[in-house]
Amino acid sequence: MNFILFGPPGAGKGTQAKYLVKKLSNYQISTGDMLREEIQKDTEIGKRIVNDMDDGRFVSDEIVNTLIEKVLLDPKKKDRLIFDGYPRSLAQAKNLDILLKKSNQKIDFIFFLNVDKETILKRVEKRKILEKRSDDDLNILIKRYDTYMETTKPILDFYSKNPNFHEIDGSSKIEEITGKIDSFINV
Ligand code: AMP
Repeated sequence: MNFILFGPPGAGKGTQAKYLVKKLSNYQISTGDMLREEIQKDTEIGKRIVNDMDDGRFVSDEIVNTLIEKVLLDPKKKDRLIFDGYPRSLAQAKNLDILLKKSNQKIDFIFFLNVDKETILKRVEKRKILEKRSDDDLNILIKRYDTYMETTKPILDFYSKNPNFHEIDGSSKIEEITGKIDSFINV
């Protein structure tokens, strides 16, 4: 089964992705983690994206699509994908469609964890202390939330017509969200 998880930064996409990884032996494909790794390893891509990432801006579609292609065409990961933080633009969504067709795959479930800004801010303040993520500075977070909502809106409109699109209240407790996901996937 392949999944897409949507939700603004701090909505709990990562937590639910990890739950599904454990339950189904799937792979979490977090473009945020992949991009941070490029910066950490100081690769050519890392050097190109560090400023955008630090300022809470989106990295170019071209870079993200290149990183994603390798994962999607990996036979080991076929039908075991959980997209966390991708696609984030219509260009990325279209690219994903092409790569899915090319690799003879489809998306089985699309979950949108919807949370308001206030709840997110409270959560990320906690995560900032726990994980020491440098980009989780409050102002940057607000920018990231707004950018996410603005840029993702057209993609949500695009996917929400899909019968396997489900909106879940992301301000619920972790176990409640997990329970809802379980009831949808029914395994
Ligand atoms: P995340 O860990 O998913 O919250 O992503 C952290 C940052 O990585 C974002 O604020 C963006 O700068 C960048 N990023 C992650 N995924 C994408 C994507 N699919 N497209 C463009 N930029 C991304």
